[in-house]
Amino acid sequence: MQSQVAHQIERTSLEDEISTEATFDADELSPAELRQYRARNERMVVVPQIGADGNATGLYTVYSQSGKKYLVDDMGDEKCSCKDMKHRSPDGGCKHVRRVRLLIRETALPAAGEPVEPFFDSDLSEVTSSPR
Ligand SMILES: [Zn+2]
Repeated sequence: MQSQVAHQIERTSLEDEISTEATFDADELSPAELRQYRARNERMVVVPQIGADGNATGLYTVYSQSGKKYLVDDMGDEKCSCKDMKHRSPDGGCKHVRRVRLLIRETALPAAGEPVEPFFDSDLSEVTSSPR
């Protein structure tokens, strides 16, 4: 909610924005916006856990660019084993939960109960791609 208040400023015109070639500073972002930015832009590899039936269990291992690995549970309320979730449990989840949801929405990453096979057939480019 804080971010909405912070952004109730006069609408900037696109002309001003272009002419100043606005630079990006992460400090401008609210905590929620920063999580979303990181969820989309940081290097993470997400691997779904496979149940005995060959379908995704709703648990995902997230390998982060910091070299740590987290477990995200996307069943019901968002859960992740990271400190952000443990200490702050932000609305909409930590960057790992957000990444899992982005990938479910935008790629072949299976949601809980969906078959895992199409993901491993189609999405290994993300696992093997080099850093940006
Ligand atoms: Zn997390």
